This record gives sequence, structure tokens and C-alpha cells, in this order.
Amino acid sequence: MITIQGKGASIGVAVGPLYFYQRAKSEITRFKVADTDAEWARFEKAQATAIEQLGALAEKARTEAGDDAAALFEVHQMMAEDLDFVEAIEEQIKSGGLNAEAVVSDVAVQFAEMFAAMDDAYMQARAADVKDVSGRILAILTGAVQGGIASDVPVILASDDLAPSETVQLDKSKILGFITSGGSGSSHTAILARTMGIPAIIGAGDQLKEEYAGREIIVDGGTGVAVIEADADTRARLMQKAEEQRRHRELLDQLKGKENVTKDNHAVRIYCNIGSPEDVTTVLNNDGGGIGLFRSEFLYLNCDDYPTEDYQFEAYKKVLSDMGGREVVIRTLDIGADKQIGYFNLPHEENPALGNRALRICLNRPEVFRTQLRALYRASIYGKLLIMFPMVTSVWEVREAKKMCEQVKKELSAEGIPYSEEVELGIMIETPAAAIMSDRLAKEVDFFSCGTNDLTQYTLACDRQNNDLGRFYDPHHPAVLRLLKMAADNAHKNGIWIGICGELGADLELTETFLSIGIDELSVSPRSVLPLRQKVRDITVSAVREDLVRKLQSDETGI
Ligand code: PEP
Ligand code: MG
Repeated sequence: MITIQGKGASIGVAVGPLYFYQRAKSEITRFKVADTDAEWARFEKAQATAIEQLGALAEKARTEAGDDAAALFEVHQMMAEDLDFVEAIEEQIKSGGLNAEAVVSDVAVQFAEMFAAMDDAYMQARAADVKDVSGRILAILTGAVQGGIASDVPVILASDDLAPSETVQLDKSKILGFITSGGSGSSHTAILARTMGIPAIIGAGDQLKEEYAGREIIVDGGTGVAVIEADADTRARLMQKAEEQRRHRELLDQLKGKENVTKDNHAVRIYCNIGSPEDVTTVLNNDGGGIGLFRSEFLYLNCDDYPTEDYQFEAYKKVLSDMGGREVVIRTLDIGADKQIGYFNLPHEENPALGNRALRICLNRPEVFRTQLRALYRASIYGKLLIMFPMVTSVWEVREAKKMCEQVKKELSAEGIPYSEEVELGIMIETPAAAIMSDRLAKEVDFFSCGTNDLTQYTLACDRQNNDLGRFYDPHHPAVLRLLKMAADNAHKNGIWIGICGELGADLELTETFLSIGIDELSVSPRSVLPLRQKVRDITVSAVREDLVRKLQSDETGI
């Protein structure tokens, strides 16, 4: 029996064969070729296919998002045909006698370095284009396969860590649990595991070895312990725990249909966080009152190219209709930082969490933002839609985003396309700037929702992805709680509501504090709804409010 101690990231006990995630092949093999003419012809064929693909992408982008969007693919097309680039490849294949993959990869590095060293910012940005075009040609040459799970039976999935784009493309019916050597509790892999209600352990480090592949493993996502080939006693103990958890869920099921009201009649709305339209089933099964956060970027992560307006419209329409008139907060695209999407061609950044992400990208790429807003407004007639902008720091950003909404509404009216006039607009409070400016921001929007994952990261200067920061990444830190209170006071002074949609919303140790400072809505993973309802129904807020608020504002720590 081998015991691994990691960090519990999503509760529950699961048992199954250990399977290591197969990443798409990216190594380039390097070898000498005998027939250099045939190798050159192989390159030319791959180049022609790439040019054809890029042409089709440019046309698609033009019809859906206009000439600016198409231009990106046209630049890539020109690059794939660029004489200097192609001649360098021809020369190295024909005189060096190397295989096409190795040559394309080498020439791409040379050209990217050359562009990156130029003074002009525009030319520097071409380095990313060279990499992108070469990556496309290389994928055609190598017939690269998508990563995934090539197993007929459901497995416990192991990996170093999974990027959100990898997680989102997994076949969920094949996953019983997760175990990763890296990762952190507020990384998006952990968040997704919780949303899907799948047990997960992160941060197992080098205790997780590939040689264990195929052996039976039990993961306990509550304690962070995983056991490979457990002895009879350990197996029985963990299976009993799984059974107890199942029975506990049955008890919690009795709370379905009951109100989220404290003993002294203080009501709070309990909504759910989702990543895809399919998650609505779990929301309804767990009696979630609405959707407090639909991370729309997962739609983008699931596509190989910009999702079209119609594709997005269908997804938003499905969520709104399935929720049957209950409130649905859809957050506009929040990519960047750990959520990278290849086809956005975002330039490399030294500090991506502080870089071009979320609303910043939308304001800089209005054609992308406009497509999403059109899809959202078109879908708005199918339910109760609220649109939320992420990563706000300034009032002007919100005004610009609202202006885009007005433009989109005008366009739809002119085209005779119906939309609802009742759509509420809100922002995430997830930067210290937004919390500090919440008095001004509250005058611009209909609601606030606090993203405590990022608020903690930015307030405490602690990377949320870095598991080694451990106790330094402390969402209970008084600085974070004070900012939440500040935002709540400013929201209420201005007559708007405030919620929490970060992972902290489900932290039962803070439920009394949240209700005491006036949080109106908590949006949590679907499986956290009933435990949270149980907690709410068990507390009396008025008795502790003054004390909690005093502690929060005094020098007393521990809150
Ligand atoms: C947050 O930052 O708390 C949040 C809800 O957004 P995300 O986790 O997707 O960054
Ligand atoms: Mg966030």
C-alpha cells in the first residue's frame, strides 16, 4: 500500500484505476532524410494546407466579426507564404538534409527571435505570429493528436496540472476523481472539479509517480489523502466514509425546497457557479436558486476558434431557458492569466495575472466583445439575464463597457432583433481598486459580485496558482474581509445588491460574517448549495453581527 498526502481540493471519496493524462504530442523529432526533394514536397503540402485553413478562418472571421478580425488570419497567411521564411526552410531541408518538422521548428525560433529583437512594438508582436503559423504547419506535418483519456473505463485522472483549456475538453463521464502533482486550491482545475462534484487532490508533488499507472487508487478529496492498492482495513475505512458521505447527502436532500433563512429571519440568496450549459442540470438537482456566475470563457476554451455569435447565443439561450426565469448572471469573457486560448494569439507576458486579461482584452478587442454582447442580448428574451464584467479597476472601463452594450442594443433594434430591456449590468469586485472605488462604481451598475479568488490574490500579492504560498494566500485575512465590507456598505448606500461568487462564498466558517456585513447573495458550486443552506438555517445573525463587525474593524486578528 502506498499513501500519498496532497491537498484536498474537492470533497468526496472515489476509487478507480490511476490514469495519467495524455498530453497532445509536442516534441519534435529530428532526423536526416535521404530524399530531400520528397521532404521539401512534404513541407510544401503542409504549407498549402495551412494557407487554405487560414483562408477559411479569415472568411469565417470576416462574416462574423468584420474585417479587423479577418486581418489577423490574413497576416498569418502572408507569413506562411513569406519568401524569406520559406526560402530559409527550403535551404535547410535541401542542403542540411534534415526532416521538415525539425527545420520548421528551427526556422520559427530564428525568425521569432529576430522579430522579438526589433525596436518597433508592432514588429516585436510578429514573433507570436511566426510561432503560431509554424505551430499550425508543424501540427499538420506531425498529425498532432489532441490530449485526453484513451480508456474505456472511468478513471482517477492524474497529471502534473491541467490547464483550464485541457480540463474543459475532457470527457467528464470518464473521470471519477482527479489527482495532480501541482496546482492550487483556487486554480481553475480545482474550481472545475468542485463544480462537477468530482473528488480532487492537488499538490501531491513527486509522490505521484507515473509507474503507479493502472493500479487501483482511492482518493479522499476531503483530507487530501490518496492510497494506492489500499490494504483491507484502509479500503474498508475509506469505503465507509464514502457511504457516510452518500448518506449525509441524502439528509441534505431533505433541505431541497426550503428557504435560505437564518433563525432570526435574515434571508440570503444561494446561487450557483457554472462553466457550461450542461452544468444547469446539477444546479437544479441541488436546488440552486439561480446562476450567480456563468464563466463564459469556458465556451471559448472549448473551441478551436472564436465561437460564433450563433454558437454563443444557443449556449446562453439554453442556460436561461433551462433556469426557467430564475436569475442568471453571465460573466463576459475572462481569459488571460491562467486561462490562455491559442487562437487569441495573446503575446507572451512576464506577469500575466497583472496583464492583458478579462475586460481589458474585451475593451482592446471590441470585435470579440461585440460578438459576445450581441449573443447575450439576443438570448436575454429567454429568461432573466444579468451581465457581469470581470477584472474592473476603473470607472471609465465600466462606462466603456456599458457604451458597448448600448451600441449593441441599437444595432439589434435596427435589425429588428428582439432583446430584453430588463437586463441588469454588474461588475466583479475582484481587485483592491474596485473595492476601494466601490462608492463610485456602485453609481454605474445594478449589482456587485465579489470574486474572492482574485481579490485575495491581488490584495495579498499572492499568486492563486502557487500552491507553495500555502498560509500566505489566506482569504480570511482581515484585509480581504475589510474590502468586502467596504464594497457591501457602498453597494447598499447606493441601493444595489452585492454577492460573493469566489470560492470563499462556500466557506461555512464565514457565513455569519458574510451575512453580518450584508452580503445579499452567495454563489457557490452546485454541491455546496445544500450544506450552505443548512448552515444559514442554523445561525442567528443579529446576535453576532455587532461583535463580528467590530472585530473586523478593530485590530483584532483571527477574522
Ligand atoms: C474570482 O476571482 O473569485 C472569481 C470568481 O473568478 P475566477 O475564479 O474565474 O477568476
Ligand atoms: Mg476572478
